Amino acid sequence: MALKITINSNLNTHGVLSAPPNKLHSHLLPSFQNICGRRIRPLSLKQSNRRSRHGAVRVSNLSQSSASNSFDVVIIGAGIIGLTIARHLLLSSDLSVALVDAALPCSGATGAGQGYIWKAHKSPGTEKWELMMRSHQLWESLAKSIQLQGMDPLEVLGWKKTGSLLVSKTADESAMLKKRVEELSQEGLRAEFLSTNDLLSEEPELVLEKEGGAAFLPDDYQLDAHRTVAFIEKGNRCFAVEGRYAEFYHDPAIGLVRPGNSCEVGAIQTSKDTLLSKRAVVIAAGCWTGSLMHDLIKQSDIELDLPIKPRKGHLLVIENFKSFKLNHGIMEAGYADHQSATLKATASDSRPVYNAQDLSVSMTATMDASGNLVLGSSRQLVGFSTEIDESVINHIWQRVGEFLPALRKESLEDLRQSREIRVGLRPYIPDGKPVIGLVPGFSNVFLAAGHEGEGLSLALGTAEMIADMVLGNPSKVDAAPFALLGRCFH
Ligand SMILES: Cc1cc2nc3c(=O)[nH]c(=O)nc-3n(C[C@H](O)[C@H](O)[C@H](O)COP(=O)(O)OP(=O)(O)OC[C@H]3O[C@@H](n4cnc5c(N)ncnc54)[C@H](O)[C@@H]3O)c2cc1C
Repeated sequence: MALKITINSNLNTHGVLSAPPNKLHSHLLPSFQNICGRRIRPLSLKQSNRRSRHGAVRVSNLSQSSASNSFDVVIIGAGIIGLTIARHLLLSSDLSVALVDAALPCSGATGAGQGYIWKAHKSPGTEKWELMMRSHQLWESLAKSIQLQGMDPLEVLGWKKTGSLLVSKTADESAMLKKRVEELSQEGLRAEFLSTNDLLSEEPELVLEKEGGAAFLPDDYQLDAHRTVAFIEKGNRCFAVEGRYAEFYHDPAIGLVRPGNSCEVGAIQTSKDTLLSKRAVVIAAGCWTGSLMHDLIKQSDIELDLPIKPRKGHLLVIENFKSFKLNHGIMEAGYADHQSATLKATASDSRPVYNAQDLSVSMTATMDASGNLVLGSSRQLVGFSTEIDESVINHIWQRVGEFLPALRKESLEDLRQSREIRVGLRPYIPDGKPVIGLVPGFSNVFLAAGHEGEGLSLALGTAEMIADMVLGNPSKVDAAPFALLGRCFH
């Protein structure tokens, strides 16, 4: 059903910046001064957040009339993908942005992410390679810019240049890793294969048989998803002062408004608001994107089959861990296979089989910026449940113990008081590539979802790609592999 909407022309959403957009484009200096083109004191959360009568957190000129519900771009989903798209649009254009979430930013997969910004388990020449390289370049620029402003990226983003160890246990895996090291080196990256002997000094707690080893990339990073989200939110909220940014949290999107059933979406209906979108709508709702799109277009003639599914993951965090230190981020070589494993299908039914037997656990271990030991991780296709499954935690504990036997001296039961369990639903898509692009059948609806286990790593590249599409700029990275056409339409 199309709603009749009047756009209030008094709204000043353009021309509020005192610096030209190209000056603002730099990721290098996203200080509050540079973001806004003049010195503006960042709002404290207390100052900037107002809780509406519905309970939604609103940041911006929210005392405005209902006319404040008109924006150039409405983004659905405030996980790392939606948040960074908002950030990129705010920094690189003069457009106004509304960010809508059914809950809060870290309530989805983002809040559970381990934070590896890694190249060690990526293969040069694959379709995602260029996007990953660009994204990592943008992350590094962001960390550098934070440093240039006199802040510590470790404090602000949890940013640590830990280097990565992709670990092999068998001779076959070691051969595979040696080949990968060669390929990565040919791309100009610092990469070397470490034997079990070399690893004794590099990572003393890691114990392997003599045929094992590790691909070591000293320039790989990790971040803390919660700290990073807080930083990005704070930067975005700076634009609220100018009336260019507002958040609609705890307010799920429930409908698209298409005046005259046209291919242009004029507004997003949320549970509490109607948000006019003058230029574009971006859907970045993680694992919920498939079902949300299905609901949003069910009364239209558009046939979209978006096979994004929730892939549940558990992480075990042991707080303030003192028994030993890890020098690097660690991951078992088999992780990449777990990540890309496709859904099983029965002979009579091509739909995915969801059952607990689909559980896979591959070892990951690192120390985060707060001194916590973060251990993972599991993958399961069990629908949208985020309930903690203790048997999965036991699997993770056992698997990690096979690589870090010193852990076996500890009892998981005794660690109950100092443990935190994070559960998140990765947005899984069977062909392993996120969907980033215009939704065919619409002239102004874009999707950015399906990043599975690499959404943190690919976020800034994805955000730049979507912003360029919305702004009509040439893409920095070939966007064709991520287009929906041919993948999500019959
Ligand atoms: C255990 C685990 C470890 C991981 N480790 C890493 C890692 O080391 N490195 C890495 O790069 N990635 C990692 N990931 C993956 C990464 O966390 C995800 O790829 C990424 O967070 C996906 O971000 P997103 O914004 O697409 O989705 P989400 O963070 O899930 O955000 C989607 C948002 O959409 C909202 N939403 C849903 N429906 C609606 C609606 N109708 N209206 C409005 N809003 C809606 C949700 O509330 C949610 O906030 C890991 C994930 C898990 C689970």
